[in-house]
Amino acid sequence: MRKLGPVAWHAVASGWAEIEVPDPVDADRLRQLHAPEYVDAFLAGRTPLASAQGWPWTPQIRDGVLAINGGQLLGAKLAMEHGIAANVAQGFHHAGYARGGGYCTFNGLALVAQEFSDRRVMVLDCDEHGGNGTEEFTHRLPNLYNFSIHGNPFGMHGGERSIPRRLPSVTQNFSPYEQALDDAFDMVECWRPDLLIYQAGADPHLNDPLGSLGMTTEQMFERDRIVFQRCKGRDLPVLFVLAGGYQEPINSKLLPLHLNTFKAAHAVFAGGGSD
Ligand SMILES: [Zn+2]
Repeated sequence: MRKLGPVAWHAVASGWAEIEVPDPVDADRLRQLHAPEYVDAFLAGRTPLASAQGWPWTPQIRDGVLAINGGQLLGAKLAMEHGIAANVAQGFHHAGYARGGGYCTFNGLALVAQEFSDRRVMVLDCDEHGGNGTEEFTHRLPNLYNFSIHGNPFGMHGGERSIPRRLPSVTQNFSPYEQALDDAFDMVECWRPDLLIYQAGADPHLNDPLGSLGMTTEQMFERDRIVFQRCKGRDLPVLFVLAGGYQEPINSKLLPLHLNTFKAAHAVFAGGGSD
């Protein structure tokens, strides 16, 4: 979570974003989405459940998670008003109904589908890891669709509204990744979501300690550009979130990758151009 503040400040300083500060998410909304006993254990710091996502619990972690999930609801609203918004956040797609996992506490992707129950919400998950928690929530929320392009399935199996697309390293050949993005947007045409939530993970990068997709910096920028152009071309509102990315030191290695997503969004939405 150390990366979140610096990403926000640099995105604003670069002229690619303006900041809106969200209210913390209301705990009752989380109790509606997740098992109430899990939510209450996390709020109170009762281990082991409170640390099920992989972090030792602290009040600061709790407050950060509540702010991040509040940001999801504000970000979704802003995206539907303006066409594009970001939540400078991570830690959603491995969280299942009864507990967190993989550094994900609550599933802020499913939270948006629950909040806007009369809208169709599609997640395009381009993190290195598969969205197993989101997949679980597609069984609970009929207006949630999950399309995940990943190197590591992380327990994702696929389902009626959950498509896993596992790829080998693309360093030498990006076309399988472009094909997977084509397939995702074919599904957009078919399922007709009202909002796309784009998990713009930086952990598929070839230097990431958890990465296997081997994406170059240029390939990741191209991935972002394609996603934003396709959304703009369809008038499909898009909310993007940072998702994974674990290179150190953060400032020199990781920040440029996440900021490239803001740069791509700004180029497409402020600079014109779409397919
Ligand atoms: Zn990841």
